[in-house]
Amino acid sequence: MRRMDDTLATDVAPIALPPVPGADRYRSLDFADTAATLPAGQSYDLLAAPESAMRWLAAHDLTAPDVQLYEVCAQRMRTLRTHVRALFAARVDTTTPPEESLRAVNEALTAMPTAPLLAWDGAQGLRRIQAHPTDQAVNHALATLAADAADLLTGPDAEILAACGSAPCDRFLLRTHGRRHWCSTRCGDRARAARAYARRSGTSD
Ligand SMILES: [Zn+2]
Repeated sequence: MRRMDDTLATDVAPIALPPVPGADRYRSLDFADTAATLPAGQSYDLLAAPESAMRWLAAHDLTAPDVQLYEVCAQRMRTLRTHVRALFAARVDTTTPPEESLRAVNEALTAMPTAPLLAWDGAQGLRRIQAHPTDQAVNHALATLAADAADLLTGPDAEILAACGSAPCDRFLLRTHGRRHWCSTRCGDRARAARAYARRSGTSD
């Protein structure tokens, strides 16, 4: 009999899983899950490059069509994602959230461009300047995602925030049906198969 892992190694393509339950209501949840670990040593990161980060932002109505993202922008998105994931994990585990993650989310929240700033230089004197359009777009996107995460973490849905229970998957989701806490049918099937395998082989998980 083939081990379950052997089967998965051949039939799992290195692609992103479908959105988790709740991702349609919270863009921050989908944002947290833009990177995930999959079985058989596979993983994906939708923010790994500026082009894919751009596609993710556009698909979530978070950027203007004519804005070009740079690697530094994708890096900023990945950094905020790390902190949002840390806050989600702390909420799920009911542990103290990391202070640096609270700070990062608050910085994103308050970096929203509101008005052109007053600047001075020797040639032109005093003038108002707008932030670079790319910075404005990224700041806006990160502020929106940070606010969404803060809403999720402080609203009634925080109670149903969960981590996928099918290791090694590390996606977050909102529990929709009672105790179910798998991010996808694929993870649910794998968790059930793992339990059956453990029962047959006389080991417990
Ligand atoms: Zn999963």
